Amino acid sequence: MHQFSYSKARSAAEAVRAVVGGPPGTRFLAGGTTLYDLMKLDVETPSNIVDINGLTELSGFDTSGERELTFGALARMSDIAADPRLVRHYPALAESLWKAASQQLRNMASVGGNLLQRTRCAYFRGGEPFACNKREPGSGCSARDGIDRGHALLGGSDACIAVYPGDWAVALVAFDAEVDVLGPEGPRTIPLERLHCEPGITPQVETVLGRDELILRIRVPASDLGRASTYHKIRDRESYAFALASAAVALGMAGDTVRDARIALGGVATIPWRARRAEQSLIGRPLTPDAARAAGEIAFQDARPGRDNRFRIELGIRTVADALLIAKQRA
Ligand code: SF4
Repeated sequence: MHQFSYSKARSAAEAVRAVVGGPPGTRFLAGGTTLYDLMKLDVETPSNIVDINGLTELSGFDTSGERELTFGALARMSDIAADPRLVRHYPALAESLWKAASQQLRNMASVGGNLLQRTRCAYFRGGEPFACNKREPGSGCSARDGIDRGHALLGGSDACIAVYPGDWAVALVAFDAEVDVLGPEGPRTIPLERLHCEPGITPQVETVLGRDELILRIRVPASDLGRASTYHKIRDRESYAFALASAAVALGMAGDTVRDARIALGGVATIPWRARRAEQSLIGRPLTPDAARAAGEIAFQDARPGRDNRFRIELGIRTVADALLIAKQRA
């Protein structure tokens, strides 16, 4: 068993100070559903843990605002997924939560921590026998010559093709969400679309957050696109599985014509992936099945398949097309 020290923070500022003043390898602990999982595999080996679960000021959420929705970083996935206002007015956000993980995990997992969920790449999680640039920079990428059925089609590099595994962040990207964080220099706000990093030559760098920066809350601009939205997730089994392909879609319709469109892809890219060209292809035109299919094809125009994952291009195209037609029905 790997040894580590443990403390509880009484405020966000104290938590940040504890990381700044703590030994290298100090980590925040929220729901723990990713951290404990990876500690049991010896993939994460923190020297010190700062438990932030006592920070009740970060545990609330408010979906009634006229200008924005706010979600404290420690609000639990299950509570937000069940919020009647969210289910009614922003179904894509609610669906992205209740289609993730299991009820037990959603009861534990925080929505701030969920943004930082780490990849499910089996070579990353498998530990030492496997070369993995994300776990051990410079060691190589076992997925490149191994089984890449679940790996990224978009945003990969020679160094890493690991998929970003989350759902919630994908839906949030479609709604232009922002994240408020606190670090030693004070607070700052990061557009969620810029929170995660494509792997490039440094796949171990997954976000723009400093190790001593704590997510305080997520803010989503209120939008009349929320109601005509969906999070469509295709997976090997219908429960407790990660996406083979997913699409968060939101539409503004004027009759049968698309006035505004948002499309973000999950399960197929190294980061939550906004498909802006696909969105633009729809605006000002009637949303027919052919137009929905064409938007899906545009979304996957830059896909770079490997040996085993080519089938997920067609799957992804159909996922986008179906999501658009589901959202249209809700308009
Ligand atoms: Fe590691 Fe990324 Fe390669 Fe997976 S895809 S083995 S996480 S470097």
